[in-house]
Parts: sequence; C-alpha cells; structure tokens
Amino acid sequence: MLLKERKIPNNLQLRRYLKPRIAFTEGQLKKLLTDEKGFEGECKFDELIARSPASTYLQLNDLFLEWRNTTFQIDSSLITPHKVYLFDVKNYEGEFYIEGNRWYYSSGYEIKNPILQLQRSESLLTPLIQSLGINLPIESKIVFVNPNFTLFQANRLLPIILPTQVNSLLKSFGSVSMKSSGHLVKSAKELALLHNDKTPFDNMHIPEYAYESLNKGVSCCGCGSLAVHVNGRVLMCKRCRAIEKLHTGIMRTVEEHRVLFPKRFLTVSEAIEWCRLDLNKLRMQKILKEHLVMVEGGKSTYYRFE
Ligand SMILES: [Zn+2]
Repeated sequence: MLLKERKIPNNLQLRRYLKPRIAFTEGQLKKLLTDEKGFEGECKFDELIARSPASTYLQLNDLFLEWRNTTFQIDSSLITPHKVYLFDVKNYEGEFYIEGNRWYYSSGYEIKNPILQLQRSESLLTPLIQSLGINLPIESKIVFVNPNFTLFQANRLLPIILPTQVNSLLKSFGSVSMKSSGHLVKSAKELALLHNDKTPFDNMHIPEYAYESLNKGVSCCGCGSLAVHVNGRVLMCKRCRAIEKLHTGIMRTVEEHRVLFPKRFLTVSEAIEWCRLDLNKLRMQKILKEHLVMVEGGKSTYYRFE
C-alpha cells in the first residue's frame, strides 16, 4: 500500500527546465547528471518493490523529516506489522573500495561513507516513529541497484545490499495482510503527513537565472532541444521530428514558466514570448483560456493555474 509516492525533487525539476535555456558550468552539469542518476536508481528500486510481495507493505518513499530540529531524508521505507525497513538507495557505478571506515572510488577519490548517513537516519527515525506509536524494530540497509557497481574489501556484516543480492532481498519479503493493523496504518499515514515538501536543498546547485536571459521556446518532448515549431495543430521538432499536440506542449511550457518564475504574471504576450512559437495573440489567448483561470485586468489580464 503506497502511502507516500516519490516525486521528482524540486531542484532536479527546476534544473531539467533550465537545461535547454541556459548554459550550465561543467560542475553544474556533472552534479545534474549525478542527481538524475540517483533519482533514476530510486525509481528503479520502487519498481522492484512494486513487483515484489513487499508491495503489500505500507510504503513511504522519499520522506524529508524533522526530529527535534534535526532534518533527515529517507529514500524508501516499508512498514510491516513486525518491522520497519529503511532503505537508502544508491545508483553508484564503477569500482569502489573500503579502508577502515572510509570509502573510496577506484581512482582513490574519497566519497562520503554512506553507512554513517544511514545510521544517522535510523537514529532519528526511531524516536520519531515511537512518538507516533510505532514501536517496531528498524532494519536499515543501503541498496546498490546498479549492476555495474563493485565494492572491494567490504565486510560481510555491513548493512548493505549489493546488486547481486537485490533479488534475494526481494525474495526474502513475504506478503502480509494489513487488515488487522488499522492502528499501524493510521500511524504510518501520520508519518507521511510529517513529510516536508520544501527542503533546504531546493535551491542548491541551481544556476542563477533571470527571465530576460533565458532561451525562450518550447522544449522538445523527445530530445529536449528548443527546436520546436508549430505545424497546424501539432508541434514538431526540427531536430528529432518528435510530434506533440499544440495544447499539450504549450501547457507544459507555461507550467515551466510557473515553476521558474512564480512571481511573474503570465499574460498572453508573455506566453507568446516564452513559448516563442509562430502563434498569434488570439490563438494563444484561446489556449490559455481553455486550460487556465483568467484574472481580468484590462491590458494586464493574466492567467493562473487553478
Ligand atoms: Zn526533438
């Protein structure tokens, strides 16, 4: 039973929108790639869980929580009548090794010890769920989901699931019935409500941007480029030939405008400029009117999402 689904993190969404519209530095691009990969790994794990008996457990994905003024994040958690599972999902690729308490990439570059983060989350989650009346043992593990991940010199007792062990982890789950666990379901729902959608990471790694300097246009639903033009009732990409309905593409693009510039007013002229399509005022107005709420103000009439 899915109680809290995974959404694309705000700062990743923002960067996806910005990518075709602004030049990223090499560092920003690298970080974007890493974050995309991390998110992809988490989604992959969600799919594996959905196809396993663990889909009968109470599932809470991607929680950002706070306990006594300390915040922490949980990639994936499963609650059964007997146990709480806490998973930190890593999509690392390549060869890594451990020396003592320290983790290194094969090149010798040190990475953060992921186990410390896992232990921190567990130590904060324990009193938090107890305060909600969930007095169950927590089993926490780091799950490495990428088949191209290798870890040398790892102690067998470490709380990690290697790619070759993911299948046996999934097989170890037995399905449960939550029918007689009404109290637990209620507490788990309360836990889901404690999730804070605004995280301090929201503004991290986002290139500085201003409306005036961003490239305008509709980004292609296939290749992401701004080489999209109107062709009757559809949008067509000059680069990859992908086709999208005109309304869908425009609404997608004005949604980007809303997220990137929450304080700007979407007038017809601004929508025309932002979408940079060969579209006259009347046609754009008709589309905006159909999908958004019109706020009248003469020349400054603008449109907002419901
Ligand atoms: Zn394209």
